[in-house]
Amino acid sequence: MVRVSVQIHGAVQGVGFRPFVYRLASELGLKGWVINDSRGVFIEAEGEAAHVNAFVVRLQDEKPPLAIINALEVKWLEPRGFEHFEIRHSDDSGGKTVLVLPDIATCADCLNEVFDPGDRRYRYPFTNCTNCGPRFSIIQALPYDRPNTTMSRFIMCAACQTEYENPLDRRFHAQPNACPVCGPSLALWDREGKTLSHSSDEALRQTAQALREGKIVAVKGLGGFHLMCDARNADAVALLRERKPRRDKPFALMARDLAQAARLVEISPEARGLLASPQAPIALLPRRDDAPVADNVAPGNPTLGVMLPYTPLHHLLLHEIDFTVVATSGNLTDEPICTDENDAIRRLGHIADLFLVHNRPIERHVDDSVAWLVEGKPRLLRRARGYAPLPIPLTRAMPTILAVGAHLKNTVALSVGDQAFISQHIGDLETAQAMRAFERVIRDFLRMYEAKPTIIAHDMHPDYLATKWAKENADERVKLAAVQHHHAHLAAVLAENQIEGPALGVIWDGTGFGTDGAIWGGEFLLGDAAEFERVAHLRPFRLPGGDKAIKEPRRIALALLWEMFGRDACMQEDLAPVAAFERNERRLLTQMLEKNLHAPLTTSAGRLFDGVAALLDLHQVVSFEGQAAMALEFATDPAHEDAYPLPLSEVGPPWVLDWRPLLSAVLADLRSGAPTPTIAARFHNALIEAILATARRTGEPRVALSGGCFQNRILTERAAQRLRAAGFEVILHRQVPPNDGGVSLGQIAVAARKMND
Ligand code: ZN
Ligand code: ZN
Ligand code: FE
Repeated sequence: MVRVSVQIHGAVQGVGFRPFVYRLASELGLKGWVINDSRGVFIEAEGEAAHVNAFVVRLQDEKPPLAIINALEVKWLEPRGFEHFEIRHSDDSGGKTVLVLPDIATCADCLNEVFDPGDRRYRYPFTNCTNCGPRFSIIQALPYDRPNTTMSRFIMCAACQTEYENPLDRRFHAQPNACPVCGPSLALWDREGKTLSHSSDEALRQTAQALREGKIVAVKGLGGFHLMCDARNADAVALLRERKPRRDKPFALMARDLAQAARLVEISPEARGLLASPQAPIALLPRRDDAPVADNVAPGNPTLGVMLPYTPLHHLLLHEIDFTVVATSGNLTDEPICTDENDAIRRLGHIADLFLVHNRPIERHVDDSVAWLVEGKPRLLRRARGYAPLPIPLTRAMPTILAVGAHLKNTVALSVGDQAFISQHIGDLETAQAMRAFERVIRDFLRMYEAKPTIIAHDMHPDYLATKWAKENADERVKLAAVQHHHAHLAAVLAENQIEGPALGVIWDGTGFGTDGAIWGGEFLLGDAAEFERVAHLRPFRLPGGDKAIKEPRRIALALLWEMFGRDACMQEDLAPVAAFERNERRLLTQMLEKNLHAPLTTSAGRLFDGVAALLDLHQVVSFEGQAAMALEFATDPAHEDAYPLPLSEVGPPWVLDWRPLLSAVLADLRSGAPTPTIAARFHNALIEAILATARRTGEPRVALSGGCFQNRILTERAAQRLRAAGFEVILHRQVPPNDGGVSLGQIAVAARKMND
């Protein structure tokens, strides 16, 4: 006879871990007990040595599907003579290192109940169990118990309570457990908040009818509101675009099931796995030519963002109708997603015709995550529902650092020991609403993990609102660490791949404040989290009008031409971006460039994409960042293998990639009538060959790709292939987005190293 104590760290609470331990111990005839504590799960078990051994092995091998074991400490002890195996009450003393789980899509068992006319949860929109349902979006405090969730206002009925207390039931300690008798319910509201329905079921049917009629409905879901309409109905989609307003940016879709999704997009086995995963993200997949959606859902885009229903509410709604719906975040442009029905009436009242609401409060906003497949493997572009707030494991323990992230696609991050908790996607910090959400998430994170940061890491840009917030919130006990934007990108991609470095970081994006005060974005940084050398960058050019140039790629085209031809740039009226300006606008812009007035220097690769896209007349003015660059990617003929010249200077480091020969070649091709797909391909190939040439010149065997430009599939996949073929090891983002959503993680890694040295 032997006894073991087992301390398990990780995501082991709220996932049915204790009943699993109870069943396993009973099966093996072991005696002892199991308890949730603030670090995870603690077990004492005794019995025959062989059975105890099997118990320890099977704890790991057969753990519940949602459980994540980060560490498992086993101690062998003298037997005590326990009489039975029991589940003891939670102990919430001690440091809080237990993981908060993300919200998880409805499991197959719950779904069967919801569609089983004989089940007591038939058509119940809030069905869940220990294997699925809300977590992060309803948790108010730790430990994760019902009184600490927004479900505390609902008293369980006798039937639910029995399930909740039975260790052998799938709903044992399922904190959001509910049924039609005791749980939340649905209602349909008009724009004034007047209730139009008499029951949950009627609300669902009325919503389905409204969608069929082309109406726009705001639907309160798991982590916030969606705005929904019939995706086939071009008028409804146009109305949604006009009201939001959102001119061109693609809308996400929700399909009833995999079969319906397969009519929209090409679904590989990996894509199927991603769509049907418990995280159920929006997956960006190749659009089918005959996809039954209106053209204005994702204009000019060869991919569609598709997700499957992830709550019973969504399943039931999609089963009422036989078409796919647009399901876009219920927010105004640049504002965070709405989570409260009264707030939704105020903010979305002019967008939605009707509001499908419920009375289970959403504690915090959690947007849909966005994923794509790179070289066939799932990667994240927006990390939120299903993933946040699970931590990224770090290679070493760090001081408690709060990182406030970048200006666009903001997330914040917090390091606790050797883990980094990255917040859900917050968004662009451009509006007061977004700033309030940013502050709320920080307060929330610090409270949840009872963390007192000793360092606040922030971007070097002095004018970013996040930087200002960091400076206002530092005092003698909290030090500030300013982190260069592209260095943070490099540190992020290294950190999430558990690599200490060094590496050559190819960091290409739209905008980041450089150490020289210029706007960087076409950078080659050799280094690690501690330090970097800028070994190469794009030849600088000017952004006439600063931020205005981001909205108007034609300004960038003009600035590129100006670098080559000076004043004569304006005469080349055969070029689309030149012709797109009035004569006096051109004169004004040339003056800005000549006198260097409000025309900051940049080395941004993203802006080079914009400028070339304007020369090809893909977009002269855009309605969202990246629109022109995306059009250039989509225009590319992948069969073309030749490249424009993009030579690397002999002088350096920093070596300079001179885009002028490239631009000359583009102009020659344009004027000789070469097709746009060919020019776009030669442009992409030039960048890829330049990455390879710079990697060879640098000689560092490991190359990491990060920055928003690596949301471009052709650039990412081809650069990775070419580098690997040449013998380099290539590091890509996986769980953390390559865009600025990943910057907060990198800020933590850099700040930790800075403070150590
Ligand atoms: Zn379930
Ligand atoms: Zn009940
Ligand atoms: Fe960036």
